[in-house]
Parts: sequence; C-alpha cells; structure tokens
Amino acid sequence: MNKSKKQDLKKEDLPSFEDYRDLPHIPVSIGVKGSMGNTGEWRTFRPVINLSACNKCGFCYIYCPEGTIKFDKETGPMVDYIYCKGCGVCARECPKDAITMRRETEQVCENDEDD
Ligand code: SF4
Ligand code: SF4
Repeated sequence: MNKSKKQDLKKEDLPSFEDYRDLPHIPVSIGVKGSMGNTGEWRTFRPVINLSACNKCGFCYIYCPEGTIKFDKETGPMVDYIYCKGCGVCARECPKDAITMRRETEQVCENDEDD
C-alpha cells in the first residue's frame, strides 16, 4: 500500500464486527500481562473507558499488546494501570470510541484499578 492510500484509509472504511468472537481467524496476538514489566512512572497517557458508551465487544481486550485489560461480558473491560503502557491501541480499535487517551496529569477514572 502506498503512502497516500494509507492516509486515505478511514475507520468507517474498515469491516466492522459486533463482537471479538466474530473476527475472522487471523493471527492476533493476545498479550501476556505485563510482558514488558511494571510501567512505572514514565507513561504520558492512560486509557479511560467510558462504560456507558461501551458495548462490551471485547476488542480492546483482544488487541491490547500488553494483555492488561481484563474483560467480562457482564461488567465489560477494566484496565490494569500497573502494566498498561499507554500505547493507545485499545482506543484506536474501540468501535464505539468509548476509550479516551488522557494525560496522566488529569484526574480520572471510572475504570482505574489502582485508585
Ligand atoms: S493503552 Fe490500551 S492497548 Fe496500550 S497497553 Fe494500555 S490498555 Fe493496552
Ligand atoms: S471499550 Fe470499546 S473495544 Fe472495549 S469492550 Fe467497550 S466498546 Fe469494545
């Protein structure tokens, strides 16, 4: 794919799925919790999940490269901030835009495990 086509690619042009179980059988890595260790204090942004906008599809759980999102079909996703690296993959993949990357200096979090 050339550079201009990459830039033209929009989220709405991509196929959509209702649930992570509907995904085609493709190699998607499921991270190991904290594969790069405890994040420490260097993270700049953290994902904040708006559970009222979340449809509990589980995509954030599947795509997180660190495996730091716990997921339950009833209660939805929950981020373990001890290991989250703040990469933003979960926010990018969320079909409901229910995840916002917020600066660490902002007060948050309805899904914060370490508060
Ligand atoms: S920002 Fe999201 S995808 Fe990245 S490590 Fe944290 S929870 Fe996982
Ligand atoms: S936060 Fe987004 S990706 Fe994660 S379960 Fe909810 S809707 Fe799906």
